[in-house]
Amino acid sequence: MRAVDIIIKKRDGGELTREEIEFFIQGFTRGEITDYQAAAWAMAVFLIGMTDRETTDLTLAMTHSGKVLDLSNVVPIAVDKHSTGGVGDKTTLVVEPTVAACGLRVGKMSGRGLGFSGGTLDKMESIPGFRTNLSQAEFVDQLRRIGLVLTGQTSDLAPADGKLYALRDVTGTVDSIPLIASSIMSKKIAAGAQAIVLDVKVGVGAFVQTIEDARKLSELMVSIGRLSGRRVVALLSDMNQPLGHAVGNSLEVLEALETLRGGGPRHFREHCLVVASYLLVLGQKAASLDEARELAESALKEGRSLRAFRQLVQAQGGDVTYVDDPQKFPKAPLIEIVPAPRGGYLAGIDAREVGETSVDLGAGRARKSDPIDHAVGIVIHHIIGERVEKGEELFTIHANSPEKLAAARERLLAAHRWSDEACPELPLFYGTVGQ
Ligand code: URA
Repeated sequence: MRAVDIIIKKRDGGELTREEIEFFIQGFTRGEITDYQAAAWAMAVFLIGMTDRETTDLTLAMTHSGKVLDLSNVVPIAVDKHSTGGVGDKTTLVVEPTVAACGLRVGKMSGRGLGFSGGTLDKMESIPGFRTNLSQAEFVDQLRRIGLVLTGQTSDLAPADGKLYALRDVTGTVDSIPLIASSIMSKKIAAGAQAIVLDVKVGVGAFVQTIEDARKLSELMVSIGRLSGRRVVALLSDMNQPLGHAVGNSLEVLEALETLRGGGPRHFREHCLVVASYLLVLGQKAASLDEARELAESALKEGRSLRAFRQLVQAQGGDVTYVDDPQKFPKAPLIEIVPAPRGGYLAGIDAREVGETSVDLGAGRARKSDPIDHAVGIVIHHIIGERVEKGEELFTIHANSPEKLAAARERLLAAHRWSDEACPELPLFYGTVGQ
């Protein structure tokens, strides 16, 4: 078998066999199939698509590209959540410590920024010293000791996804249902979680734009998870506007810390409570969503979620004084508050534009080796449906150069759509799959 023939077969619309998919993924993991061949193949998959059978085979091949953890001897039940990627999505930073504070064990392998969407690892690395490269032994040990782990893919666990993810980010091959489904589910299955909540983002700031596609992606992931014996629920959640106000790495950590301290933006906090509730029910800590919500609310109110987050930072070598005193996070050299150019109701805040602007400010990457600037980003002060008066603060830009700041200002002004008529707030969720 030759890699090039597999690329050509997919490019020409063919359906790959399980053997071909395994050959390709194993060769890529070992470095025998090059990055440029994998990038060409990913583009072919992006353009042609895959059948559900191919996607399932791809997921299992990526899962078995490394070790598969069996956590059943380590903790009674390990849970996990994963977002398909959005703008301002710092949900993990609040939800995982909250459910851990309610007694669930959470072992999570996260990703870096992908295209216009931010990544949990990049956000957590805003905290000096925080290690995101735990080995498998460290992962298991920390899960057993403190019940909470947040790390990146190791060379042990789903390494094929780690390599492909970095390539997809910079080759325009992110927003493909089979590639997203296999990327997420291979990591989740390899990391050993028995119960998984998938936060499937839908809208202009997500990799799937329509509710129909989000449902298709959800059904596929739920079915792959179940085939591997995992309990999986997918929530379809809005990503037409940024989630919360902050977009950019340390700005998002700051907003998560505010939320863990009992404040934070109302709609972001509500989003976190819903996701946490599903995890608590799936992980059998609560019999109903109402009971689960009460547990999550008290963990936040009593400061237990914040303590769990602090413990996580400490366990992974991070400087906890940043958690205790968020003023310590370095600030971008240029910070500008931009006023509303007119009064009216906000009819749209284009999340994709906001995400891309944040990447251009330096919060994300154009090439896979690019460094990122943790301090830059954007704070959007309003949500869709709010009335804003002319001259009121509309957004704040945190930049590291005057040129980037000027470009961001223009782009963000254009990303806000106005109406003279009252507009409804957007729903947070559009449904669930797999309940
Ligand atoms: N998150 C992932 O882990 N993979 C994707 O492809 C998209 C979001």
